[in-house]
Amino acid sequence: MQPSAKTFAIKRKRGVMRVSLNTQMLLGVSAGILVGLLFSRLGPDAALAQSGLYVSGLIGNLFIDLLKMVLVPLVFTSIAVGIANLRLHQQMHQVWISTLGFFGLSTTAAIILGLTACNLFAPGRGLSLDVFHSALHNFDAKQMTLADFIAKFFHGLFVNPFAALADGNVLAIVVFALFLGIALVKGGGRYRNILVLLQEGLEITLRMVGWIMHLAPFGIMALLTRLVATQDMGLLTGLAKFVAVVIGTTLVHSLVVLPLMLYAVTRIKPMAFFRGAREALVTAFATSSSSATLPVTLRCAEQHLHVKPEIAGFVVPLGATVNMDGTALYEAAAALFVANLAGVELNFVQQLIVFFTAMIAAIGAPGIPSAGMVTMVMVLQSVGLPAEAIAILLPIDRLLDTFRTMVNVQGDMVGSLIVQRLVRAKAPA
Ligand code: ASP
Repeated sequence: MQPSAKTFAIKRKRGVMRVSLNTQMLLGVSAGILVGLLFSRLGPDAALAQSGLYVSGLIGNLFIDLLKMVLVPLVFTSIAVGIANLRLHQQMHQVWISTLGFFGLSTTAAIILGLTACNLFAPGRGLSLDVFHSALHNFDAKQMTLADFIAKFFHGLFVNPFAALADGNVLAIVVFALFLGIALVKGGGRYRNILVLLQEGLEITLRMVGWIMHLAPFGIMALLTRLVATQDMGLLTGLAKFVAVVIGTTLVHSLVVLPLMLYAVTRIKPMAFFRGAREALVTAFATSSSSATLPVTLRCAEQHLHVKPEIAGFVVPLGATVNMDGTALYEAAAALFVANLAGVELNFVQQLIVFFTAMIAAIGAPGIPSAGMVTMVMVLQSVGLPAEAIAILLPIDRLLDTFRTMVNVQGDMVGSLIVQRLVRAKAPA
């Protein structure tokens, strides 16, 4: 059995030292950063660093593969069962409205924060695009207009479910499972067996997630070792102001805005939230993938934060694909940064365009590493900025992705708690 989230201290049981999973994960983070720094000191040619990076690559990928293995059955069963249970209790309508309302509001707050910070601190002003000449020259940006992007997004919603399941296409699985959940309820008792099968499928998959979590401390250490050891520090210092603005505002959103929204609606204190959410936050930080983290996010929401399975099972998987506060904030901030580099002043209307395209780009970005960089082309092009400029951001993206993915995942857990509270408040007596 998993040690509870509250067992934070080292315990002695049957003469063996047992450390809680949360502590093990935090140890994994520290060890990963330290070993990564050591490898980067040794340099890429040192035999120790080479073999260490090889081994950490193996372990890190194994951890992500295991999470992805359970991802598809988990999303499919949790959405279908969640919807079926909500409709049984006539709460579907309230859940939809509260979920979309929260997603929209929190993403809006994130983008406003990013835009305000960039207007205040003006990262990139004084630097010149020419400094990055070689990066720009060797990069061929794909064209992506807003119209194409929207058409592609809608086209990707309704997909042959078998193809979607086989490809791990989370958004399309969510949509099909929604239909299935509604059909299960509309059919009444007729499909009871299928519903029970799905419920048991969900339970058994969550049991497997519990096993995979035993590997989490090692997976996290391995992923962070590679990240730190391979980060180009030279570029990082060149873009230090931009990196500081993005990480700073992302943390403000995570530590101030989201906890305030949570407290205002549910009266849950930030410490209690973070204690229950930390397994998922650390996993998101290390994997940079909301989708890969989804099994852990659901586990935290249901088992540590005590969100009802029918609410968490709907809000969290949907949020993992469409609710990305960190990504939205980043896309807006990056557009202003590139404008500063190009020596272009974006006026109010242009910043409004950035606002809307950043929101759409974040909704459309899949929950995988660096997905935001792909959809950002559209944001830049919407105000006539050079799409090639993302070549400058690519080398630092892996680092920034850690923080924004963590906030993306945090938003989903906060959302599930807020929706649960709002639905309870509105439920008929
Ligand atoms: N890596 C992010 C996520 O999975 C998406 C992004 O690149 O912004 O949530």
